[in-house]
Amino acid sequence: MLALRKSTAAFGADLVHVDAPPGPGAGRVTIAVAAAGICGSDLHAFEWTPGYGFMTAFMPVTLGHEFSGTVQVVGDGVTALAPGDRVTCWPTVPCGDCAACSAARPQHCQGRRIVGLHADGAFAEQVVVPADNCRRLPDGLPLTVAALAEPLAVAVNAVDVAELGPGDRVVVLGPGPIGISIAFVAQLRGAAVLLAGLDDAARLDLARRIGIRATADLCGGSLEAAVRHAFGGEADRVIEATGSARSVVEGLAALRSGGVLVVAGIHSGSLDLDLTGFVRSKKQLRAAHDTTSRAFDEAIRLLAVHAATLEALITHRRPLAEAGAAFELARSRQAMKVLLLPEAVATQGEG
Ligand SMILES: [Zn+2]
Ligand SMILES: [Zn+2]
Repeated sequence: MLALRKSTAAFGADLVHVDAPPGPGAGRVTIAVAAAGICGSDLHAFEWTPGYGFMTAFMPVTLGHEFSGTVQVVGDGVTALAPGDRVTCWPTVPCGDCAACSAARPQHCQGRRIVGLHADGAFAEQVVVPADNCRRLPDGLPLTVAALAEPLAVAVNAVDVAELGPGDRVVVLGPGPIGISIAFVAQLRGAAVLLAGLDDAARLDLARRIGIRATADLCGGSLEAAVRHAFGGEADRVIEATGSARSVVEGLAALRSGGVLVVAGIHSGSLDLDLTGFVRSKKQLRAAHDTTSRAFDEAIRLLAVHAATLEALITHRRPLAEAGAAFELARSRQAMKVLLLPEAVATQGEG
């Protein structure tokens, strides 16, 4: 089968023919992939940005962790799933025996493995995953839209970490798929949301079509001024999904005393912070990464209810055989979410 693999510790990835995976083994299932989204982390792995060196030990490894599909084969001991079930998958596999796992906090497992980064993922016709990581899809939720479950779950978790409430004034920085999803979830929870981008007219336009009521394009202007203009004062919460350390500094400046800033982007740079000013302002700096089981389930429920709206995040669908061009598209800011479809699915035009 065709697979997009990271084989060397350098820029790029290889589209190669590999053997189909052997039987799934106990507790695992083989999934026929229907659709797999290209994520920011896939682009970091592709571009080999700092922070992804951990992958070297697992190469060659097939990329792709945002996916949906149909169960083909179930391994011994799997009773919750059967062939034919339509599923999506939380790609984080906890180690199962560290202190965090023993304390039922698998999201804090530092030995966790991510399908598509540490183990073969879904930019292929088939992927093998633990059955426990799979979630059966509600009837009527298209498989293509279900491939958004993982990034939406990351957004739900970031909103959870922000602990925002109805009426809070929330600034979301970065109108990519995660930022728009964060703004969407925060609005659903009753927050007043301002989604800000930098020279981002097309992506902010898409955000407004998805229902984000207030957006700001900061080409040249300051975030503080845009926030004052939108809210008449400072923000209660800022959630960053840009990957730019500067946006964290600007976000802190737009935040009220005691407010919370959540860093959700993956940053290759470091933060230079005036610590005395930070301490005196009593602002809270938090990190959100990956997601939780609870947030994953909520994301699937949200997708089922808002499928027609959130489908607009999928701007491009490409056959897996065109993965190279699809990655170039995803690296440009022209695309929002690019899905790769295994050839058989792509030619059927699965909806
Ligand atoms: Zn992702
Ligand atoms: Zn663990």
